[in-house]
Amino acid sequence: MRLVLATTNRGKAAELADVLAAGLEDLVLVPRPPGLPEPEEDGDTLAANARIKARAVVEAIGEAAVADDTGLEVDALDGRPGLFAARFAGPGATFADNIAKLLAELDGVQDRRARWRTVALVSFPDGTDVQAEGTCDGVITEAPRGAGGFGYDPVFVPDEGDGRTLAELSRQEKNALSHRGRAFRALAERLAGVVSA
Ligand code: IMP
Repeated sequence: MRLVLATTNRGKAAELADVLAAGLEDLVLVPRPPGLPEPEEDGDTLAANARIKARAVVEAIGEAAVADDTGLEVDALDGRPGLFAARFAGPGATFADNIAKLLAELDGVQDRRARWRTVALVSFPDGTDVQAEGTCDGVITEAPRGAGGFGYDPVFVPDEGDGRTLAELSRQEKNALSHRGRAFRALAERLAGVVSA
């Protein structure tokens, strides 16, 4: 199976490539061709945004594309930033800006529970999709720790780990328990079913 990556985020691409390659024989993952326009992610669910990203590639080049959309739900913030995690500190926010905003909003807050949710999706040129979801529960730290991963990884400690943040885990360790690892393992299983059907 040949799939074009819709993402340009290198951290995401590396994680999902590892998981999909482990779950699908004969997978060829192709980088997103340079110069494709970035679609506006104006869906109101993770699945809608993942589909927007994948369809933009399918429509531009006529090949099946793989995308994910990921949200962060913080209990003490009534589920924010949710779908808007990339723009939490405003348009053009960097990872550091978003982390600073999150830690500022949680300053002095005891309940630091949060969860990641990823929808992983492949869209085919005939208009059909295959999708799967994965979640990862944990807590937001008081300060960033670790240099691995990307995004909010330095401030998220998963419940199923050993107290390290996602940024202190190796890529394999993160994939074993992360929202994206779970979503793409489930997606690979569904795709394997589609291929053999
Ligand atoms: P999106 O799926 O690219 O829209 O991601 C939303 C936001 O969450 C972006 O700021 C990402 O950097 C961040 N993000 C997505 N996945 C992860 C992750 O696995 N760890 C930490 N941050 C993430």
